[in-house]
Amino acid sequence: MSENQNVNQNGSENNHEKIPLTCIICPMGCNMEVEVEPDESGQKKVLSVKDNGCKRGEQYASKELQNPTRTLTSTIKVNGGVLSVVPVKTAGEVPKKMLLQCMEVVRRASCKAPVKRGDILIYDILGSGINIIACADVERSV
Ligand code: SF4
Repeated sequence: MSENQNVNQNGSENNHEKIPLTCIICPMGCNMEVEVEPDESGQKKVLSVKDNGCKRGEQYASKELQNPTRTLTSTIKVNGGVLSVVPVKTAGEVPKKMLLQCMEVVRRASCKAPVKRGDILIYDILGSGINIIACADVERSV
């Protein structure tokens, strides 16, 4: 029997697994214990969550274990501006597994001043449906 297999009250084995997970939704940072089992597709199905301070911890655990996503923050080069770069972020979250590829696209991108906060600088990055937007104004240099 592997260390992740438990024995039910009726004596049969199951493949439940207990995973430690820190919730990052709020500054409380609850250290939770999530009990999972694989579903038909092999993905982790959440059975129970312990030590979460509120309901959002359960939602976070399900999302994090099945389809983790993240907001990407970075900078994009600005040509002809009073600043050489503008801070940017995703207008939403992208799948965690796409983060490195998205960072590479952002790293190679550039834009022209003036830039206004909220301007879309990259549309639908890598077909994710998520845009990259400017987080600040950059005026044209004189
Ligand atoms: S479980 Fe609730 S209280 Fe705990 S970190 Fe997550 S959001 Fe905050």
